Amino acid sequence: MTKCKAHMCAYGLTGPDSDQPIKKMTGLAVSHPDMESLALTCPGHQYHKTIEGKCCDGENLSAKTARYTDGFVKTWYSCIKPEM
Ligand SMILES: [Zn+2]
Repeated sequence: MTKCKAHMCAYGLTGPDSDQPIKKMTGLAVSHPDMESLALTCPGHQYHKTIEGKCCDGENLSAKTARYTDGFVKTWYSCIKPEM
């Protein structure tokens, strides 16, 4: 296993109440060193929304951002194991 890090904003994670990107650092354990190239980091957003408080629908923002974005899932599909 190789450990690497990714920023979820690179996969299109934004706040549900706004379009601000959320730079959520995610630790990943990949089974092959080649897969490290799939771990995208922030392309250089000027602003990031902080993960705190609740959304307009009452759900905690941290709970919403705990899900993977479509972009993330498509990039990695079945070859990752999130590191807890
Ligand atoms: Zn970013």
